[in-house]
Amino acid sequence: MSNTLLQLVADLERGTINVIDLTVPLGPDTQVIGLPPMFAPSPGVTLDVISRYDEKGPAWYWNTVTMGEHTGTHFDAPVHWISGKDLPHNATDTIPARRFVGPGCVIDVSTESTANPDFLLTPEHISSWEAQHGRIPSGAWVLLRTDWSKRSGAAFLNADATGPHTPGFHKSASAFLAHDRDVLGVGVETIGTDAGQAGTFDPPFPNHGIMHGAGKFGLASLCNLDQLPPTGSLIIAPPLKLVNGSGSPLRVLALVQR
Ligand code: MN
Repeated sequence: MSNTLLQLVADLERGTINVIDLTVPLGPDTQVIGLPPMFAPSPGVTLDVISRYDEKGPAWYWNTVTMGEHTGTHFDAPVHWISGKDLPHNATDTIPARRFVGPGCVIDVSTESTANPDFLLTPEHISSWEAQHGRIPSGAWVLLRTDWSKRSGAAFLNADATGPHTPGFHKSASAFLAHDRDVLGVGVETIGTDAGQAGTFDPPFPNHGIMHGAGKFGLASLCNLDQLPPTGSLIIAPPLKLVNGSGSPLRVLALVQR
C-alpha cells in the first residue's frame, strides 16, 4: 500500500478528511422527471417485500425494487443520448472505472438560481469562477450548486403551464466544459442535467446532447453541494454495472479536507 493511501486512511480516521454524502434518499416518494405526454414516462420507485422474517423467509428481509434507471440521485452514461450511442465504452458496464473518480469543481450559482429559476450558466460565469479559483482541470466533475435540493414537493420540479422552470447550462457552457476543459461530466441538484425549459431550446436538451456526444457523464439530483469547497474535493461516483445500462441510481461521495 502506498503512503498516499495510508495517509488517507489515517486522515479519515482522524477526521481531517470528511466523507460528504451527495445523495438524496431513494424511495417511493422520489420525484421523477415529467415528459410531454407523447413520450414514455419513467416509473418511480416501487419496493415489494420478498420476505420479512416471516413464512416467506423466516430469518431474512429483502425487497424487489422497480424503477427507471434515471431516478433519484443518478448517473447518465453517454449511451443515454443519441449523440453518444456509437461511442466506445459508453454504457454503465463498459466505462473504465478510473473515470468515476475525479476532482470536484463547485460553481455556486445559488443566488442567481433563486432570483431566476430559468438561470443558465454561461462561459462568462465559468471564466469568472476560474479567475477566482483557477482553471478547471481535465477530468474534473463540475458541480453546479443551485441549492435546488433544498426544495421539496412541487417546488422541486417547479412546473407551471409552460413546463418546469429549473436552472441549467447554456449550450455554449456545456460545449466549453466538454471540449475546452475535457471534464468527466457535470453534476446538478435538479432532476436532470438540462434546464427545466430545455425541451424548448435549439437544440432541445443541449447539455445531454453535447456532453454525451463528447463521451461525458451526468449526475442529477445531488445534494449537500453547499458543504463542498469550490475546489479541493474528490468526487467518487460509480454507477451500478448494469449491462448496457444508460445510467443508474448511485451513491455519490465527496472526500473533503477539513
Ligand atoms: Mn438522467
